[in-house]
Amino acid sequence: MVEVEIDKGSGFCFGVVTAIESAERELKNTDTLYCLGDIVHNSLEVERLEALGLRTIEHEEFKQLKGKKVLLRAHGEPPSTYRWADQNEITIVDATCPVVLQLQRRIHKCYEATRENRTQVVIYGKKGHAEVNGLVGQTEGTAIVIEKVEDLDRLDFRRNICLFSQTTKSLDGFREVVAEIQRRITEGVTFEYFDTICRQVANRLPNIKKFASEHDWVYFVAGKKSSNGKMLLEECRKANPNTVFISEVREIVEPLPKSVRSVGVCGATSTPKWLMEEVAIRIRELNQGR
Ligand code: SF4
Repeated sequence: MVEVEIDKGSGFCFGVVTAIESAERELKNTDTLYCLGDIVHNSLEVERLEALGLRTIEHEEFKQLKGKKVLLRAHGEPPSTYRWADQNEITIVDATCPVVLQLQRRIHKCYEATRENRTQVVIYGKKGHAEVNGLVGQTEGTAIVIEKVEDLDRLDFRRNICLFSQTTKSLDGFREVVAEIQRRITEGVTFEYFDTICRQVANRLPNIKKFASEHDWVYFVAGKKSSNGKMLLEECRKANPNTVFISEVREIVEPLPKSVRSVGVCGATSTPKWLMEEVAIRIRELNQGR
């Protein structure tokens, strides 16, 4: 008999749950609600909400709208999006996660307070990611985005540096970046850093590692676009090489090897609980009678 366990710590973070609830609430009173970008990096959940009337649009289409209602997802948006909405009678349903909102304000404050002395505002994050775009927008586009230690060559170590992190980056990576800047910064130059990694994600790392190591086999369920998913998957693989990445139930087509006795099902902060439950059902179906 194969035992299947769903990780209790996996699934939507509170920012995403709140954004989805906002969308569901609005959709009860309106036929069409536009959402700027995928509400969550999970195509199945997006499809479920689209069936209720949610229409996902990108920035080009947003700029064609007038007098419509548009939801801003948990990742947040730069100030230019709010200005555009104002000028085009667009009603904003702001579902920016409060943690992201607070980070945006912090970065804006830092930028305002240090622009005179040409401090470099640096964001450790993924270039082009929606949240990062929203953060860079707080600095009138001047913040420098660093994805890895190698990118640090782009900084001027003779000028002050103020470092923040995208909320979903790994703590280890952030610490590496901090250590390297400390090593290279010119004496007497100010380097301030703020660990702005969201603990909703950071705390999942040790939990998911433990969960993965406790099973013979792991199915990691997430959307292909989820950056948090990629990071957690990597950790799962380190803890258990028998980790298989899937986005949909139908990707599981074969029974498990005979030696497998226990299977763990886990996922990213953008993985719906209902999807992990369907995966567990599929595993049990395919491995019946063992
Ligand atoms: S990971 Fe944290 S900051 Fe990002 S949306 Fe979720 S709760 Fe908010």
